[in-house]
Amino acid sequence: MLKVKGIAVSAGVAVGKVYYIGKEELSIPKKKVSHAEIPGEIYRLEEALIETRKQINQLQKQISSDLGFENAKIFEAHILVLEDRVLIEDIILQIKNRKINVEFAFWQSIQKYVETLRKLDDDYLRERVTDIEDVARRVIRHLLKQEFVNLQEVKEKVIIVAHDITPSEAAVLPKEHILALVTEVGGRTSHTAIISRSLGIPAVVGINVGEVCAKQGETIIVDGYDGIVVVNPTDRSLKEYQQKSDKFVKERKTVPVPKAYKSKTTDGRVLTVSGNIEFPEEIALVCENRAEGIGLYRTEYMFLGRNEFPTEEEQYRAYQKVAKNIKPQSVIIRTMDIGGDKVLPQIQFSKEMTPFLGWRAIRFCLARSDVFKPQLRAILRAAVDGDVKIMFPMISGLEELQAAKKVLEECKKELKAEGKKFKEDISVGTMIEIPSAVLVADHLAAESDFFSIGTNDLIQYTLAVDRVNEKVAYLYEPGHPAVLRLIKQTIDAAHRNKIWAGMCGEMASDPLFVFVLIGLGLDEFSVLPLSVPKVKELIRQVSFEESKKIAEKALLLGTAKEVEKFLKSELKKILKNDYEKILRG
Ligand code: PEP
Ligand code: MG
Repeated sequence: MLKVKGIAVSAGVAVGKVYYIGKEELSIPKKKVSHAEIPGEIYRLEEALIETRKQINQLQKQISSDLGFENAKIFEAHILVLEDRVLIEDIILQIKNRKINVEFAFWQSIQKYVETLRKLDDDYLRERVTDIEDVARRVIRHLLKQEFVNLQEVKEKVIIVAHDITPSEAAVLPKEHILALVTEVGGRTSHTAIISRSLGIPAVVGINVGEVCAKQGETIIVDGYDGIVVVNPTDRSLKEYQQKSDKFVKERKTVPVPKAYKSKTTDGRVLTVSGNIEFPEEIALVCENRAEGIGLYRTEYMFLGRNEFPTEEEQYRAYQKVAKNIKPQSVIIRTMDIGGDKVLPQIQFSKEMTPFLGWRAIRFCLARSDVFKPQLRAILRAAVDGDVKIMFPMISGLEELQAAKKVLEECKKELKAEGKKFKEDISVGTMIEIPSAVLVADHLAAESDFFSIGTNDLIQYTLAVDRVNEKVAYLYEPGHPAVLRLIKQTIDAAHRNKIWAGMCGEMASDPLFVFVLIGLGLDEFSVLPLSVPKVKELIRQVSFEESKKIAEKALLLGTAKEVEKFLKSELKKILKNDYEKILRG
């Protein structure tokens, strides 16, 4: 038995078999071959090309039946690469002339091919680079006789263990078959963590996966409460963890789903508790948990894990469905936040040194109105069928907000000219997730209908801590006095300008911070659907006056540790015997 400690990012305990997804990096051996070995190398090349082709055909069929024909078209480009005679001739020539092994010759030829394409002044061909690199990896894996991973193939309940799960992989995960996730990369607000929490499955990140997955199919335990992974558990520890799992499942159920939608503090301050979703299927969970609508709909997940951009019509139908199903509650549709760790195969993102500071969210949208406008038009049209609000991510200052609103106005004009129905006076909110936005929040508030504080990013940008880097995860502290002060400034600026301020970052779902956020004057908590009952319960336990005192004191403290210690003691004082029950899980 081996116990490995990582970072707990999604609560719960799971026992199951490992489904290991290896690291993407390939190491390509370079060897000299003798004259007599050359025919053997060429034969291996042909064999690998045939095998790869068979595999791609199979994948194409499977994706076509699971996700539709359009999505399977991505593989056509892969097949073309495998059949490219110029490329194949070049590889054979290299093997013969330089007397090198097939893997190395293949990789070198592919690099040349890719470099040429990158320089071309043709968007379509440049975008094929990803396809070529993808298919080249497959061929190399065949040559090296390495195992392949195909998430669509997972048909039994497993624990996924991976170096990383990219958001595009997360988008096509066979969710019904996943018991838990374990990754090397990530932190509490990485998208793997957020997805795990919204699926209600345990997850641990920051694990050296090499230690965990000695064998595919090995039994492991994932303890998403304490961030522990147990490999090859003894019968005793299996029993112990089963009990732990039962206990927490029972405790979770002891916070009942509230009957009413509204939640009030003991002295009558009414607060809104809404839910965050990534996929329209989560609406059921939002409603079951009595959330007051959707405070954050992360639309970029519709763009991930597929080959083409969703059309305006497809987006319109999806947003309309959400608007209708959540009625009479409202939905805040956030325009797509791609870039950072969420890259689209449809776009050739150059590798950025610091992607979270790069071409992301509103920056990307303002540069690509061909992608931005169809989304805005779809939202405006869907808003006819429900209470739909729009929200822009990653706004760093007034100019960006004004530019985004200008595109929105252009879309309205176009729709009017086309005679299409849309909501003229749609509410427009600004996400406050960059420190510069906090500092100019008065200007932003004057031109917004509401604010939503994105603490996941606000914390990373304020404390200079990459939210997906497990090595600095210990520095990612929501209770940091700098973060509390920025939240206060944001809420104050909103209120001075007579607009409401909500929070849709993970901090709003954390019971430890609910009282201090009430005290700072937050109007709306948009949380994981499963956390709604708990946050509502906490709101009902405290008065606004008490919370204001807690916030005042917390703001005077010097470190995150002191803030957390103080908030824990206040929670204990107010919740008394219910403290353990409400805080865990
Ligand atoms: C945030 O940054 O807090 C947020 C809600 O947005 P995302 O996690 O999607 O970046
Ligand atoms: Mg964000």
